[in-house]
Amino acid sequence: MKKHYDIIIVGSGVAGLSTLLYLIASEAYIKGNLSIAVIAKGAIDETNTDWAQGGIAAVAAMQDNYEKHIEDTMNAGGYVNDIHIVKKVVQSGPAIMHDLLDWGICLDKKTDGTFDLVKEGGHSEARIWHYQDTTGHALQMALTNNIPTTQKLDLKTNNTVLGIEKDINGIFHLLNYHNETKFTENLSCDKLVLATGGLGTVFEKTTNQSIATGDGIYFSHHLGAKISNLSYIQFHPTGLYKEGPISFLISEALRGAGAILVNKIGESFMHQYDERGSLAPRDIVSRSILSEMQKTNSSHVYLDATKVDTIYLATHFPNIINKCKEILNLNIFQDLIPVIPTQHYSCGGIAVNEYGESTIAGLFAIGECANTGLHGANRLASNSLLEAIAFAKFATSQLLKKTVLTSSIIASEDIKLPKYKEIERLPIQKIISNHAGVTKSNKGLNIGLEALYQISDSAPFIEFDINNKDAIKLWENHIILELSIMLIKDALEQKKNIGVHYNVDLLLFS
Ligand SMILES: Cc1cc2nc3c(=O)[nH]c(=O)nc-3n(C[C@H](O)[C@H](O)[C@H](O)COP(=O)(O)OP(=O)(O)OC[C@H]3O[C@@H](n4cnc5c(N)ncnc54)[C@H](O)[C@@H]3O)c2cc1C
Repeated sequence: MKKHYDIIIVGSGVAGLSTLLYLIASEAYIKGNLSIAVIAKGAIDETNTDWAQGGIAAVAAMQDNYEKHIEDTMNAGGYVNDIHIVKKVVQSGPAIMHDLLDWGICLDKKTDGTFDLVKEGGHSEARIWHYQDTTGHALQMALTNNIPTTQKLDLKTNNTVLGIEKDINGIFHLLNYHNETKFTENLSCDKLVLATGGLGTVFEKTTNQSIATGDGIYFSHHLGAKISNLSYIQFHPTGLYKEGPISFLISEALRGAGAILVNKIGESFMHQYDERGSLAPRDIVSRSILSEMQKTNSSHVYLDATKVDTIYLATHFPNIINKCKEILNLNIFQDLIPVIPTQHYSCGGIAVNEYGESTIAGLFAIGECANTGLHGANRLASNSLLEAIAFAKFATSQLLKKTVLTSSIIASEDIKLPKYKEIERLPIQKIISNHAGVTKSNKGLNIGLEALYQISDSAPFIEFDINNKDAIKLWENHIILELSIMLIKDALEQKKNIGVHYNVDLLLFS
């Protein structure tokens, strides 16, 4: 017998868990009239959220105001953001910080007892609430600690949703796979929240965790939902350069503290490209680094933090210090840090309205998998955690509305195991990174698209084998291929260079 829930939330990062916490505060849940399941691919904290470093942007200080945060967000986004959404999210900031403090988040304070708000690139005021350089972990812990253990809530970690269908009655059906026991089950729900995060692993180098394979975007596309601006990918200029796909992020805050970019012979080069030097906007710094790498024939550049005040470095960047030591045995007080532009954030995704609802009734998308209109063509630093919590809150009233059945026919067919094209991940990642990276060209995009089609055409469909230990990874490779094709097509459709989108064959937008 298929288990039915009022609401299923797929994802246990900031988007999924804050949606859950707002829902369980409702009268319906308290009275026992709302059943919810939360499903997550890995452990509950195996999320991009847990890795967030810088913090959460929200207006608080006396000299700051909503207008300034709105302007900074619009300016970063190339003024193609949805102004209504920007205002709504920014104005919800203080109440959201209040909610987070109620949920017990631990944030840094100054010696006078007030919160230590810092400034990040693109922000005109100090409005970033943080806990050292591990804000995401503090957030993930606070959210997780508030999850109740009641019968009306099923928490399914280490479970991968492999398929989603919607029946003529408006009910969603999910095929769920338990990664360890290999057991599959069919579930259904009235309303479905996709909080599945970004698609970083489509690229060869990403700051994202391995769970970021864009599953929610893939499912939504197959359900017929609108996906928009998939090619608006933010690259972070300073991912730690090392072997392997997952790159540790060296936060912008380190450059804010005085670290500078240097080339392989130790020369500072950023001022040759932009008068703001190492603190120019992310897209400009990324393009400058790539140009410098080409000029000096090197595979990366370096970040020099050796001149940063040692006490400031030690107190503000303990995580970066430890990770550089752990990963590359570097002592950043003395050694240069090798860095390279790295995929970081997906600004586009599942198109949603101001309540987080996609173009399919009852299907919600919250967090990085969604395109809300807040970021426009580029995300302002630290706006994404705020966005995820804000939309979790905005969605609550719609999620709590009773579903009106569109037909009296009860569909109870089980979803079959998916078929996928058996392909390798790295060749796709190389194609997308080479042809749809920081700098694009029409020729490169077309070559990339053709190469992806060839991979797709040459691979046969095979059935998901629940006993194959690599089945999930292979299935994800198929998703990565489809999303890569969608991403390149979206890039080819972009008509102007704006924000993160830079195609040498297009004119600069003015
Ligand atoms: C290194 C790093 C630093 C960052 N720093 C900041 C910062 O300082 N400030 C800021 O605002 N933003 C920051 N960001 C961005 C921000 O962290 C993310 O945008 C945000 O955490 C995404 O949250 P989410 O809930 O949408 O997704 P995630 O936190 O990634 O969670 C996704 C969830 O979906 C689940 N899932 C996915 N597919 C399936 C499936 N098929 N079945 C079951 N479950 C599934 C996963 O298991 C996971 O639980 C940073 C990102 C990175 C990578």
